[in-house]
This record gives sequence, structure tokens and C-alpha cells, in this order.
Amino acid sequence: MTLDGKQEEAADMQIIDLSAPVDAAAYEADPVRHEVLGPREGALHMAAEMREHFGIEFDPDELPDGEFLSLDRITLTSHTGTHVDAPSHYGSRTSYGDGTPRHVDQLPLEWFHAPGVVLDMTGHGTGVVGVPELEKEFARIGHTPQPGEIVVVNTGASAWAGTPRYFTDFTGLDGPGTHLLLDLGVRVIGTDAFSLDAPFGDIIERYRRTGDRSVLWPAHVAGREREYCQLERLANLDALPPFGFRLVCFPVKIAGAGAGWTRAVALLGD
Ligand SMILES: [Zn+2]
Repeated sequence: MTLDGKQEEAADMQIIDLSAPVDAAAYEADPVRHEVLGPREGALHMAAEMREHFGIEFDPDELPDGEFLSLDRITLTSHTGTHVDAPSHYGSRTSYGDGTPRHVDQLPLEWFHAPGVVLDMTGHGTGVVGVPELEKEFARIGHTPQPGEIVVVNTGASAWAGTPRYFTDFTGLDGPGTHLLLDLGVRVIGTDAFSLDAPFGDIIERYRRTGDRSVLWPAHVAGREREYCQLERLANLDALPPFGFRLVCFPVKIAGAGAGWTRAVALLGD
């Protein structure tokens, strides 16, 4: 079989997984429940359902290997694992458009298949970074984000994903930093941390100290004024170059939801 041009191109393309697993065995502030109905239990369940609902008698032992199909029942929030936050997560009203924020199933798919940019914000500790850190990083990598690009902030927090520390110790983006990216035309901002805003404890501590309400979840609140999505709980960002790849993160189509899970990947050499 000969390779045509398209297949050769595909062979050169590398797919890098940027997703964290949904794992009931890992630590979660809001625990995941995962029940598995095994293939044998599935056979017994199916036979019982057939009898009850259709009056059909069926011996499960007649199935190949005496097994039917497995079934997973999972209880989790739409913010568990790698996911996309939609505008309706940020508040019930917007100051743009008709005042109604869009849900995760209503967003343009183009937003989630676009050139990606990684900003290295590792080593900043628990708290926030903003315009000075972002501008310094644009200069270092030699690239300023362009309209429609997906910008992801590598905080280094994914190193402790699956542990309690993941929820309390990470670097967030402040209000002016968020607005700078939105001014550049970015519509999806990602992070490997639990949140694009700083940890709860850090935010509350700065608010108590300053009395300044603008420190209260500014990256999320910015979404009430400007329509954009966050892409949270990414993984493996160290494997990416600063730019020159495509990022794909289509959210699962959950009607009326403020977020949806995604299997985020980077396409290199595309
Ligand atoms: Zn979220």
C-alpha cells in the first residue's frame, strides 16, 4: 500500500494527551463515585429486565461465555477532570449580548480547535500572576497570542494532581492579566491547576487583608463582562513547545450545563 500525501502528513502528526483522568481512586474535594456492572452481572440484569418489562424468558447462560455487556455508572461534577467552563458558570447575567450567558452546549466549536500557546508560569507559588508576568513571558517565547488562539497557563500544579494539595496550592491569573488575554482576542484560557483563579484560601486571605472585592475570583467574574471559556485541570503541559501546535478540546455536549468534560489534546506537526 502506498502512502498518499494525506497519510504521510498524518503519519508525521503527533498527538499529545493533555487530559487528567476521571479517577474515583484519586483524591477529589468532591469525590467521584464509579460503579461498574460487570459483563456477567450485565447478563443477569438483562435477563431480569427482559422478564420484567417484556415477559420474555431468557437464560443468561446461553450468551457467549455467559456474559452480556458491562455498564459504568459515574457520579461526578462537570468540573471534575479536564473540562471547559462555559459563560453560564460565571454568573446568571452578562453585561454583553442579550444578558444571558451561553451554556457549554451552545458555544462555537471553532473556539476549541485552534492554535495553542503555552505560557510558563511555574515557580510563582500560591497566589496570582498578572500583566507583568504575562508580558515578560510573551517576550521570552517570542510570541504574543493572536485572536482565536487557545492560551494555556502552565503553573506546574498538575504535578500534585490526585492529592489534597492540588486544591489548595497553585498559581492563578489576576483580573488585569485575564483582561489582557481577552483584549488580544483569546476566547479560551487554560490552566493545569484546579482553577484559573487563585486557591480559595489565598483569595479570602487577600480579601480580608485589603478589603478589595476585585480580588474575589476575578478571572471567573471577568466572564460576566466578556464572553470566554476556561479550560481547567489540564495535564502534561511540559510536553508542549510554547507555540506552533493545535489544541483540541471540544467539550461534551451537556444541555444547559455550565461546564463539560473534554479529552484535551495537542496536535504537533499538523
Ligand atoms: Zn471549572
